Formats: sequence, C-alpha cells, structure tokens
Amino acid sequence: MPPTYHTIVLGLGTMGSAAAYHLARRGRRVLGLERFTAAHTLGAHHGQSRIIRLAYYEDPAYVPLLRRAYELWQELDGSAGEPVLKITGGIMIGEGDSRRIVRGATRSAQEHGLPHELLDAAEIRRRFPQFQVPDGGIGLYEQIGGVIFPEAAVRSHLHGAAAAGAELRFEEPALSWEAAPSGDGVRVTTPAGTYTAERLVVAAGAYAPPLLAELGLPLTVQRNVLYWFSPTGRRELFSLDRCPIFIWELPDGRSTYGFPEIPGSPQGVKIAYHNFGPLVTPETIDRTVHPHEVADIRNFTSARMPDIAQGELIASATCMYTLTPDQHFLMDAHPQHPQVILCSPCSGHGFKFASAVGEIMADLAEHGRTRHPIAPFGVGRLLPPG
Ligand SMILES: Cc1cc2nc3c(=O)[nH]c(=O)nc-3n(C[C@H](O)[C@H](O)[C@H](O)COP(=O)(O)OP(=O)(O)OC[C@H]3O[C@@H](n4cnc5c(N)ncnc54)[C@H](O)[C@@H]3O)c2cc1C
Repeated sequence: MPPTYHTIVLGLGTMGSAAAYHLARRGRRVLGLERFTAAHTLGAHHGQSRIIRLAYYEDPAYVPLLRRAYELWQELDGSAGEPVLKITGGIMIGEGDSRRIVRGATRSAQEHGLPHELLDAAEIRRRFPQFQVPDGGIGLYEQIGGVIFPEAAVRSHLHGAAAAGAELRFEEPALSWEAAPSGDGVRVTTPAGTYTAERLVVAAGAYAPPLLAELGLPLTVQRNVLYWFSPTGRRELFSLDRCPIFIWELPDGRSTYGFPEIPGSPQGVKIAYHNFGPLVTPETIDRTVHPHEVADIRNFTSARMPDIAQGELIASATCMYTLTPDQHFLMDAHPQHPQVILCSPCSGHGFKFASAVGEIMADLAEHGRTRHPIAPFGVGRLLPPG
C-alpha cells in the first residue's frame, strides 16, 4: 500500500507549524501531530514575545537565513487576522569588559553590510533613557530589530497549513516512529492509530531527545524563566513605539534581554536571563518561579532600569531551551534514514528563524536538499564517535 501522506510533521510548535505550512502550501499531503493543543505553554513558544534581529552576534553565517526569515514573517504577518511581527529597533549592550555580544553583532553587521550604529553609554542614556547604562558601556543599535509574537506566529502557520489542506491532529502524541530500511516510508503510531508517509519531520523541541535516543545525541534541555514587571516610572518609555528590544551583557558575562510592553495580557515589561538555568526534562522541570529568582532579576534592573526596578512582578513563566553543545541548530536528515528529518533543537535562539526553517524543512522533505546555508547545522558534528 502506498503511504497515505507525503509528510508527517511530529510536533506542531514553532518549527513544526512552519514546516506543515510550507509543505501544505506546496500541495503536499501533510499530517501534523501535536501532543497538546495549538499554541500551548508546555514547550518553547509561549510568553508573548520573541526577539528578532539581523546583526547576529552568535555567527555572521546566520544572517542570510535571517534575511529570508524576515521576508517570510512579513508575508505571514496578518495572514490569519493577527500581527506576528513588530519592528521596534534593537540594541545590544555591553557593560564593563563584557563585549562578546556587541563585538559579535558588529562583526555580523560589518561582514554583511548591515545598517547599524555604535553608541557609547552617554548616547544610549540620552536616546533610550529607560536604559541607564553605566559609563564605559557600549551598544550596537539596529533599526530592524523587533518582536515576533510567538503564539500568533504558531497560530498563523497552523491556520495557513490547514487552509492549504494539511490534516492537523491535536492532543494526539506520537508514541513511536519507524522508518522502512529501504529509505522510503515511515510509520508513526499514536494512541489513535498508525499513520504512514513518505517522509517524517521530527520537530518535537524539548520532547525530542527520547524520540531520537538511538542516535545518542548530546542534547540537553534547560529551564529558563521569563518575568513581567509593571513600570512604576515613565511607562511611556516602554511602549512598542518607543522601546527597542534589548540584550544586555553584564560584567559577570551573563546576559539578560527584554521587550517593550505589548498590549494584551500580561501587560508589563518582559525581561529574562538568557541561557541560564538548570538542566531538566519536560517531565522534571520545576514550573514554579521562586522568590530568590525574582530577587536576582530585580538586582539586574535596580540601577539599570529605574522605571521598572520597583515595579510589581505581574507574571512569570518557565520555558525550555533544547541545547546542542555548540549552541547552534540541528537541521539535517537522520544519518540512517534519509526520509526522516531532524528539525531544531534550536538552542534557545531559534524562534526568529522559524519562518525560514519551515521552508527548509519543506525543501528537505520534498527534494532532500535546500538552497539555504544549513551545512553548519548538520547532525554529523553531534554524533558520538564511531
Ligand atoms: C524563555 C525562552 C525565550 C526565548 N526567546 C527567544 C527569542 O527571543 N528569540 C528567538 O529567536 N528564540 C527564542 N527562544 C527560542 C525559541 O523559542 C525556540 O528555539 C523555539 O521555540 C523551538 O521551537 P521547537 O519547534 O523546537 O519547539 P516547540 O515550539 O516547543 O515545539 C515542539 C512541539 O512538539 C510537540 N511534541 C513534542 N513531542 C511530541 C510527540 N511525541 N507527539 C506530538 N507532538 C509532540 C510539543 O508539544 C510542541 O508543541 C526562546 C525560548 C525560550 C524557552
């Protein structure tokens, strides 16, 4: 019997919803399976906002992908009746000797000729009085930085996928998958039955490690916390029209980031530490945010963001990063089963790329290759020796 579907997308979160969208719009028969509901809070796509920026400190090699991601977000924006992207400007700040982020962003900007401005501390304080950067600090500002609304982005991709004919099944977890040894065909079993397809995209985020256990990949899952504070001072400084997204590297090397206030709930300024928390699993993660954690993030705001330093904590949430050891992505065919495509783990910085990742997944599922530069994200670098 020929397989029922062209591609099964396992996981309809950030990357899976985008993969289903692109494949369905190319006329492929798609089955999407999601263990929870659409745009839920138990993965990596909740919390109202994600940063998007172009001068990429992590590596200039990401810039071409980001250009495509911006184009595709603009196309998706409003397509399902809600905005997914807001350009606010973005500033990377380095304090003391902590220059890794500003240097890396500058390198990307120079290599790719990206418009940017380098600012000293006095200039940052003058233009953005919400950020009291101490003397000696520096910043890189880029106008194109902004916010993606993650729940709206996932919903819009799902909406477009369904409109193009994808069959999307929620609250139906994939329990196991099998690939035919011949290289064509996969079977995926859920509590409701077994489905067959030519291709499988595994986009399970923090839930992926057990599904890929046979590969012995060194993937880890990290708990990270988001905090929303209500400004007590000049609230207007944090409006979407006046406040850029920011990333702020501290003298101890940790980095924080944050957003303007986004209308809706929770209403407040969201800030967080990046890549800072214990290793967990989706089953063991502690979803309670503790007073000492709140005290620690307040410590960051106290001198630096006086208008929110005394603000009430109005909400908090935990979220999971799925990390590779080098913190770059994983997007590749399974080393033994070319019909199975491994998508993500995106090491806590993948959301902004999701629109382009959907296109890449569709290319790999249809043709086994893509024009996009994904060589650095290959599985080979992660496989245990032998
Ligand atoms: C606190 C936080 C802040 C972040 N900030 C940024 C940012 O500012 N900018 C940025 O670019 N990135 C950011 N990221 C990273 C970004 O959100 C992630 O890289 C991205 O969301 C990962 O997408 P994913 O599709 O791999 O995971 P998810 O979006 O979690 O999707 C995986 C999906 O698979 C489903 N699933 C799992 N197992 C099964 C199964 N067996 N059967 C069916 N379905 C299954 C899950 O329920 C889930 O819906 C942040 C992440 C966190 C946690």
